[in-house]
Amino acid sequence: MPNLSSPKRVAVIGAGISGAVAAYVLARQDRTVVDVYDPAPGGLCRSRNIEGVDVHLFGPHVLHTNDWTVWRLFNEISPFYAMRATASILTDTGQAVPVPVNASTLMRLCGYGYRDAVRRLFFAQSTPPGADDTVASWGGRILPTRAFDMCVRGYTERMWSCDCEMVPAATLARLPIYPGRQRAYHADRFSGLPVNGWSAWFVDALRDARVFPQLLTPTDIAHAAKDYDAVVYTGRLDYLYDYCLGVLPARGFAHRVEVLRDWPWPSPIMHTPSLADGIRRTNYARLHGFGYGPHIVGIEKPSASENLVYPVLSGEALAAEYTRMLRKDYPRMYPCGRMAEYRYLGIAQCATSALHTCEKIIGKIFALP
Ligand SMILES: Cc1cc2nc3c(=O)[nH]c(=O)nc-3n(C[C@H](O)[C@H](O)[C@H](O)COP(=O)(O)OP(=O)(O)OC[C@H]3O[C@@H](n4cnc5c(N)ncnc54)[C@H](O)[C@@H]3O)c2cc1C
Repeated sequence: MPNLSSPKRVAVIGAGISGAVAAYVLARQDRTVVDVYDPAPGGLCRSRNIEGVDVHLFGPHVLHTNDWTVWRLFNEISPFYAMRATASILTDTGQAVPVPVNASTLMRLCGYGYRDAVRRLFFAQSTPPGADDTVASWGGRILPTRAFDMCVRGYTERMWSCDCEMVPAATLARLPIYPGRQRAYHADRFSGLPVNGWSAWFVDALRDARVFPQLLTPTDIAHAAKDYDAVVYTGRLDYLYDYCLGVLPARGFAHRVEVLRDWPWPSPIMHTPSLADGIRRTNYARLHGFGYGPHIVGIEKPSASENLVYPVLSGEALAAEYTRMLRKDYPRMYPCGRMAEYRYLGIAQCATSALHTCEKIIGKIFALP
């Protein structure tokens, strides 16, 4: 007869979005004690209040999703306000044009009239990629060359650290195309930011767990995998094994915050590949919808050594090898999140992965013998 009164103990290693959602859901289960380990809860979504503005410390982070369950869960933890970010790209001629590509983009970049731009973009929207298409072959076919080069090529090549010829066209789903003048950076039904800021949202998400501000070593993690009934692991896969098979390649970025004197641009998020000192700028007061306030700006640029958090295609085989080892060595450990799954996940996708992980854990640890 199972002992129904003994609580189950779960460790959550890492409290970014993936770990925080898992900890929140598991801690609300009866007879479950959740211990969270992270020296810096919040992960990539951490923020700090500067002069009344919630400034995201690792670039702009907006929750966007079509999944009502995810939107409701984030709001249950702590409320969000609905907003839509807009973005522009600063071209090589100093023009700011909307991204994702819409009719105005084609009008200003390629000299189209409105009707021709709309027709061209309807064609683009209704032309799906073939099975063998790459971003270069498909994108080059559906968009005028200048619009493709300015708005898609650079972004995709930065994102995947390789030529557009190598990237499967399916990844372009992350870059919507609007046949009218629509301006949302993300097209999903729900989009928003936490009312009290991201860092406060994490405090609320972790309120029912015990939080230990500790970076666990691979040895600590191996012990946890024996001591706890289940472990949710959201750190890097290669770290878990002390990089014994090699370091998983990843693209990195540097982010600094500056107070600028003015903001001459039309959008709170500006892609600025033509400026030497950074490829994206975010004006946080504008992002939050204030038409006034200090220009507290996050400036991002690629880095080979900092924040190596973008999985790249060339690392997938090695990641699969580490995952095989993990499954064999640690049957009670569940990898979850961007670097633990080595997948290019957004906030909502991390939450979905965390919810699936919780379902598996609950099914396993409370299963009757
Ligand atoms: C610049 C940028 C902008 C983005 N903007 C958006 C956006 O607008 N919308 C969107 O949907 N997505 C966005 N994303 C993606 C989003 O950041 C990620 O999907 C999400 O934050 C990943 O969460 P995670 O919990 O998987 O990982 P992380 O946030 O990296 O969290 C992992 C945590 O684990 C901890 N940790 C690691 N190892 C250990 C250990 N051994 N012991 C203890 N703790 C450990 C770390 O300290 C960290 O806090 C953006 C990403 C970047 C880089």
